[in-house]
Amino acid sequence: MNKTKKNIFLITLLILLSVIGIIIISIGVSMSKKNDAADHGTLTVVTSFYPMYIAALNITERADINLSNLSEPQTGCLHDYQLTTEDMKLLSEADVFIINGGGMEEFLDGVISDYPNLKIVDASQGIDKVEDNAHMWMSIADYMKQVNNIANGLSAIDNANADIYRDNAAVYNSKLEELKGMIPDTYRGSKVVLFSEAYEYLARDLSMEVETVLDLDEEKNISAKEVAETVDVIKQRNIPLIISEKQYGEKMAEIVKNDTGVKVVYLDTIIRGNYDKDSYINAMRSNIELLREAASWK
Ligand SMILES: [Zn+2]
Repeated sequence: MNKTKKNIFLITLLILLSVIGIIIISIGVSMSKKNDAADHGTLTVVTSFYPMYIAALNITERADINLSNLSEPQTGCLHDYQLTTEDMKLLSEADVFIINGGGMEEFLDGVISDYPNLKIVDASQGIDKVEDNAHMWMSIADYMKQVNNIANGLSAIDNANADIYRDNAAVYNSKLEELKGMIPDTYRGSKVVLFSEAYEYLARDLSMEVETVLDLDEEKNISAKEVAETVDVIKQRNIPLIISEKQYGEKMAEIVKNDTGVKVVYLDTIIRGNYDKDSYINAMRSNIELLREAASWK
C-alpha cells in the first residue's frame, strides 16, 4: 500500500467509525427519551388501605393517574400488617403513597427507608385524635378533613391536576356533608359500650358517653371474666346500647345481650368492601340507618 492509498483507507475508516458512533449515540438518546417518558408521565399513586383508596378514587376522578391499593389485610384493619411482596413491588413503582396516618401504618418507617423517593401524603395531618386511636375515617367530619388533606397533598405534588383534585374533593365533601346531616341527635349524652375502638369516632359524632371500649379482634379470645365484667358494667351503669362489629364481636355481644337485655347494633367499620367510589357513603349511610332504627326501639 502506497502512502496515498493508506491515507484514503484511514480517512474512510474514520468516517465509517464516526457514522457508527453517531448511530449508536442517537439510538441511546432515543431510548433514554423513552425512559424519561415512563418516569415523568402518568403519576402512580398507592393507598395504604380501603378507606384511603375510596377517598383517593373520588379525589382523582378524571385525572390521568394510576391508582392502586395495597393488598387487603385478611383480618381486622392495618394493625400488625406486614407488606406482601406484591405491595413492595407496587411501592417501588409508585410516586405517591397515601396513608391514613396517626400510627395506623406500623410498617411506615420501613417504607420510608426502603423507598426514599416515595412522596408520602398523610391524610390525618392536623386531625384531633381520640387518644392514640387512628380510626378517624369513622367520623364523617374527620373523614372530610382526610379528603381535604389528600387533595392538598396530591395538588402540591401534581400541579397539572391540582384543579381537578380540589374540585373533586369539594364535590365529594358536599356529599359527605349531607351524610353528616343524617346523624341522629337522639343519642346525645346517652351511654354506650363499644366492641371495637373504631366506633369511638362515631360515638363522638353522636355525642355519646363511651363507658367502656373492648377491642375485640381476631387475636382475642373472650374470657368468662371479661364477659362477667361487661355484664356488670352494663347492669350497674344502666347502659342501654352496645355498638359492635359483627365478625369478631357477635359472640360476646349475644351473650351479654341475653344476660342484660341491652340493645346491640352491629355496624360496619368500613375497612373493606367493594371498590365502588360511593362505597364509603353507602356503608356509613347504612350505619346511620341502623342507629336510627335502634333509637326508635328506646
Ligand atoms: Zn383497627
